[in-house]
Formats: sequence, structure tokens, C-alpha cells
Amino acid sequence: MAKKVGMLIDLEFCVGCYACQTACQDYYELSVEETYLRCFGMKEHKCDIVDGNEMMFLAPYPYDLEKCAYCFEQEGGIAPCTPQCMAKAIHVDEIDKLRELADKSKWRTLIYQ
Ligand code: SF4
Ligand code: SF4
Repeated sequence: MAKKVGMLIDLEFCVGCYACQTACQDYYELSVEETYLRCFGMKEHKCDIVDGNEMMFLAPYPYDLEKCAYCFEQEGGIAPCTPQCMAKAIHVDEIDKLRELADKSKWRTLIYQ
């Protein structure tokens, strides 16, 4: 039986930069409209500004994965969308491994499958 695969997004570290989305589009040579992963879920991000005060801002995170192939196996265990994430907030793997990763994290995570 085929193993279940999926994607984990760490919402604490995702900064909504779209790099995962564009990396997937580049890899599969897709247009903007054809993307397999779309960042449009909105979340509040927190960051420090120069005077030390915290600032909240809204930014997207990877959300729509209807067409995602969870394709980590064909690239030697690394999905093309993940190396581009400077925040290391996106992981594609077998569901059991993702759950382990999520359990170890104290941050908020989402798992898609
Ligand atoms: S998961 Fe990473 S690459 Fe994708 S939007 Fe978030 S920070 Fe950017
Ligand atoms: S796992 Fe594959 S299909 Fe899904 S977003 Fe990443 S590169 Fe695209």
C-alpha cells in the first residue's frame, strides 16, 4: 500500500513570501494561474521594529494545495518548493514523519494530505 504523504506548514515561521509557490511554478513550468500551491490563507505575523516595539502585519501562507502532488520522492527526497523557503517553514514528507515533526514543535502547524 502506498504511504500517505503530505505537507506541513509551520505558521510561526512562515512569512508569506510566496517563494514556495513560485518555486513550484518554476519547476513545473506553470503560469501564475496554474499553480499547484497557492498562498492565500491570511495570518497575523509578528515582528520587531527598530524601536523595539512589536508590529503585527497580515501576510499569506501556503493554503490551497488542491493540485499539489506532494512530490518529494522524485527529487531525492526534497520537494522543489521546500529549499526555497528561507524560513524552513515548509516540509513535504510521509504523513507519519510530518506528525513527528509537528509533535516536536512548540509552534502552530498545519498538515495537509
Ligand atoms: S512556507 Fe516559506 S516559502 Fe512559503 S510563503 Fe511561507 S515562508 Fe515563504
Ligand atoms: S510538493 Fe511538489 S507539487 Fe506540491 S507545492 Fe511542492 S513542488 Fe509543488
